[in-house]
Amino acid sequence: MTSPNEAFVAFEHVQKSYDGVSLVVKDLNLAIGKGEFLTMLGPSGSGKTTTLMMLAGFETATHGEIKLDGTNINLVPPHKRGIGMVFQNYALFPHMTVGENLSFPLEVRGMGKSEREAKIKRALDMVQMGAFANRRPAQLSGGQQQRIALARALVFDPKLVLMDEPLGALDKQLREHMQFEIKHLHESLGITVVYVTHDQGEALTMSDRVAVFNDGRIQQLASPSDLYERPDNSFVAGFIGENNKLPGVIEAMGQGTCTVRLATGEVIDATPVNVTQKGQKTMVSIRPERIEYKPEMFPEGAHVLDAEVLEFIYMGDMFRTRLRVAGSEDFVIKSRNTQGQRMLTPGEKIKVGWHPQDARALDP
Ligand code: ADP
Ligand code: MG
Repeated sequence: MTSPNEAFVAFEHVQKSYDGVSLVVKDLNLAIGKGEFLTMLGPSGSGKTTTLMMLAGFETATHGEIKLDGTNINLVPPHKRGIGMVFQNYALFPHMTVGENLSFPLEVRGMGKSEREAKIKRALDMVQMGAFANRRPAQLSGGQQQRIALARALVFDPKLVLMDEPLGALDKQLREHMQFEIKHLHESLGITVVYVTHDQGEALTMSDRVAVFNDGRIQQLASPSDLYERPDNSFVAGFIGENNKLPGVIEAMGQGTCTVRLATGEVIDATPVNVTQKGQKTMVSIRPERIEYKPEMFPEGAHVLDAEVLEFIYMGDMFRTRLRVAGSEDFVIKSRNTQGQRMLTPGEKIKVGWHPQDARALDP
């Protein structure tokens, strides 16, 4: 990873307001390394597109600096930034063939015909659309059009490519296939990609790092595994993956550990994340796959609570069990269907347990 000094893209104290009153991007600081695949992930309205548009040059920052390769680009117009772009609805020119669509960004840059033809061929081959240069967009499927949009973004060898929900309009299977294609292109071309999505699965599978946005701020910037395993706050824990939540109050703080008195009276050990004081309210978060219901599997120091099975769903490779635990009726365990893993019956009284390190005490 690159340190902020050698960042390829840098946002420094960037703010954006459309109406001069409310900020939709609030003091954004973000350094993106050369060759990195960075995803901005967050709910609708959290400021992702606005941030990308400021980097592209279609929106201006109300405050702060945006730098590309060390140079302030706040006043550089979009076509002089050398950035490739793909958007969900970034339509191809319908009256032009695929070849003409790809030629356009090269003509704008004043490139000669033979060089253009070579670049177009290379870009179409890159997205496996070499045979389609003479088609018009209307003669292509949605997935093929999106491949052409990708080729058009890459045809002029940009060092930086921005993508805003580029696969949002495609069906699931094609979307997953295109995720791999984009990832491969990123790796083989060594380009820097800034990608926007509201789909956590897409963000986790494609990215080197993910910036989780909410309400105009980055809530956490981390690798996919860190985001999932070590969410910094309850927004991130709730937005990414499934998460069991047990409300309580901090009873004692220790070194890297704390005890929490749950609302129903049980006391459990947990790992303090963004809680610091005895008496503070907290939400203990535990991932469904970190919970065991075979007592002999409970690791040393694990916590054990009484539970009642409410629902047991057989999913083939997995079991999904919903339980009543410490007053919650929405406590879920995901377990692998391994040899000896017992199926459960609704109404059954069992014990559930986990490692204290997997119980994370977060802001409520
Ligand atoms: P996201 O891409 O995360 O869904 P956006 O950046 O599009 O979020 O929007 C952030 C906020 O800015 C939203 O409240 C949205 O309504 C507002 N917004 C976006 N574009 C404009 C615009 N052109 N004019 C006024 N408000 C806008
Ligand atoms: Mg958006």
